[in-house]
Amino acid sequence: MQSCDVLIVGGGPAGSTCAWQLRQSGLDILLIDRCSFPRHKTCAGWITPEVVNALKLDLDDYASERTLQRITGFRTGVIGGPQTETRYGEPVSFGIRRCEFDDYLLRRSGVRCLLGEPVRSIQREHGQWVVNGALTARLLVGAGGTACPVARQVLPRLTNHSLLVTAQEVEFEVSPEELNRGSIEGETPELFFCDDLAGYGWCFRKGLFLNIGLGRVDSRDVTRQMTEFCGLLIDSGKVCARIPERRHGHSYYLQSNTSRPVVDDGVLLVGDAAGLAYPQSGEGIRPAIESGLLAAEVIRSCAPNGTFGQADLKAYADLIAERFADSRSGSHSLLGDILPQKWRQYGAARLVSNHWFARHMILDQWFLHRC
Ligand SMILES: Cc1cc2nc3c(=O)[nH]c(=O)nc-3n(C[C@H](O)[C@H](O)[C@H](O)COP(=O)(O)OP(=O)(O)OC[C@H]3O[C@@H](n4cnc5c(N)ncnc54)[C@H](O)[C@@H]3O)c2cc1C
Repeated sequence: MQSCDVLIVGGGPAGSTCAWQLRQSGLDILLIDRCSFPRHKTCAGWITPEVVNALKLDLDDYASERTLQRITGFRTGVIGGPQTETRYGEPVSFGIRRCEFDDYLLRRSGVRCLLGEPVRSIQREHGQWVVNGALTARLLVGAGGTACPVARQVLPRLTNHSLLVTAQEVEFEVSPEELNRGSIEGETPELFFCDDLAGYGWCFRKGLFLNIGLGRVDSRDVTRQMTEFCGLLIDSGKVCARIPERRHGHSYYLQSNTSRPVVDDGVLLVGDAAGLAYPQSGEGIRPAIESGLLAAEVIRSCAPNGTFGQADLKAYADLIAERFADSRSGSHSLLGDILPQKWRQYGAARLVSNHWFARHMILDQWFLHRC
């Protein structure tokens, strides 16, 4: 049997950030992930400046060997409709490739890792966790994303009322000539809302890579809508390259008032495992990182002799509730929930291509949290 104080299940941004913050805590930390790194992660790969600050990222060091796209504006509209452009004149976000970003964060954490090893079984024996019959831990951190085995096996299921986003994405390399023939600019990614406002498509250029995707808060017709969306990008001349047929699909939970409990005896959940992505935009990396940091703060305060009982870990649940109170209480998913049905179809194109609304509501408020 291998043993540790804290077993972190999942090496995405939530798990690696928690590990990084615990690296000098004096606790014996082990991180386990079913994948070997670097690994693919279905994602647009857009991060806000708050992520850079929270991680204390040195952008020059990061960009020296990896793709980092500065984003200074956005084009927004409905799919197939008119667009408006918002420029900020300074970086308001960054484009990264998740295969590189997640690998960088995990390596930087410096903790002991068991990679390529899925968690299959979790048992509680004599106040300790026994994982896969081979690892023992005093505390389990569930950082395994939507399908986190810790969340599934140890804490209650999410209810049907929880907000689930279903999304498809494709990221591929394009030649400089093809990029120049198309009209997608690296500094100005494009967002295309569905006409019922229950989701949106995106087209991001990051260096020599294009990332195209579409997500909806219902799973209705995502494949068909993604296919039509890709067709439209080609027909309009925005993308002048072959878009690979093979797309990656993934679902994840957004914050809502019915989100699952995040702590129990000897266990806590971070990131997507806790369902923390922002309901208005689907941004999940920032909540993953912030929850990883908060979890580490509480774990440190319980160490070294703490039992990690539910009462000790309640401080983490309180911090999460406090941190995300605003986005939970007003949790409308994209624009779909705040507009009456009949307005959605008739008003959508006008609203999202209206310059004031796009800048002050969609971008500043919901996507960039600038106010
Ligand atoms: C199409 C799409 C686009 C998105 N775009 C953005 C975006 O641009 N910006 C943004 O902020 N958010 C975006 N998100 C959301 C974002 O990807 C997630 O919120 C974020 O990855 C959550 O991080 P995490 O560490 O909680 O989980 P994950 O990144 O999912 O990491 C979980 C880890 O757990 C491991 N794991 C799972 N099961 C097991 C097991 N049984 N045993 C061991 N290990 C296991 C996995 O291999 C994985 O490495 C997007 C999501 C999708 C689907």
